[in-house]
Amino acid sequence: MILEAPGRPLRLVERAVPEPGPGDLLLRVRACGVCRTDVHVRDGEVRGRLPIVLGHQIVATVEGGGAETATAAGTRVGVPWLGWTCGECRFCLEDRENLCLRARFTGLDIDGGFAEWTVADERFCFPLPEGYDDLDVAPLLCAGLIGHRALRMTGAAQRLGLYGFGAAAHIMAQTARHEGRRVFAFTRADDVAAQRFALELGCEWAGDALAPGPEPLDAAIIFAPAGELVPAALRALDRGGVVVCAGIHMSDIPAFPYDILWEERSVRSVANLTRADGRDFLELAPRAGVRTSVTTFALEQAEDALDAIRAGGLEGAAVLVP
Ligand SMILES: [Zn+2]
Ligand SMILES: [Zn+2]
Repeated sequence: MILEAPGRPLRLVERAVPEPGPGDLLLRVRACGVCRTDVHVRDGEVRGRLPIVLGHQIVATVEGGGAETATAAGTRVGVPWLGWTCGECRFCLEDRENLCLRARFTGLDIDGGFAEWTVADERFCFPLPEGYDDLDVAPLLCAGLIGHRALRMTGAAQRLGLYGFGAAAHIMAQTARHEGRRVFAFTRADDVAAQRFALELGCEWAGDALAPGPEPLDAAIIFAPAGELVPAALRALDRGGVVVCAGIHMSDIPAFPYDILWEERSVRSVANLTRADGRDFLELAPRAGVRTSVTTFALEQAEDALDAIRAGGLEGAAVLVP
């Protein structure tokens, strides 16, 4: 399924099986999670190479490899958003490869997993935990990883607000509870289904994102791409709290009074992932007993999956199955 121009529907095309270059694995895709970032690229809010195959939560079987690869055929691996880094820039040398100046991203600069076959740099592929089938493990590869990095940015915050209860939040609620935090889910006021789902996953309260919660928060993570949530979350914070914006794109943030930032509240974003984030989280998820809730779509229904994410209302994550 290829994107030829932003704003245009993905198109099913027949291509030859790709050739792995040196260091690349040849992968048969078993499942690929669909992320809100895929929606932003499809709609042109985030722009990369064209034409491009979207999809950066790839669960695949190794079918071969180029020169200098060591992974055995038949191994199951996961391919995340971070597809390649230079290893030489200031950020790479400071263990912040998520900010690499020349980074290339899967499904943006490198063809991704909305396909039957793909290739990926072996150094950026992860071994996947046992105990998850292909569908259930796919959303861990971005929703899980980025959520995990966002959660780390909240330090030891006890009272955590999750804004937008989709794929990432449904995973993060579970790891946050595992760490003994108290979790509050903020959704659209009338989204009763999402609120009920959040309560089932261990959140102690769920309600309207545009009003403060039942008590002040130590941190808020915003997964929804709606800028008006930033001042709303600031208003819900206790002094010293942080708002972490976890998405790659957000609508403009409306002006707000300095009062709601005062007392050492802060707003920050989280960008991409490092390979260390990936290893940490894929080790933590089974230990924390994370379960995912997925809705599957056939590969050729990729547009339906993107529509479902754009509209909201999916319970958990969307996953394409070739
Ligand atoms: Zn770099
Ligand atoms: Zn993603």
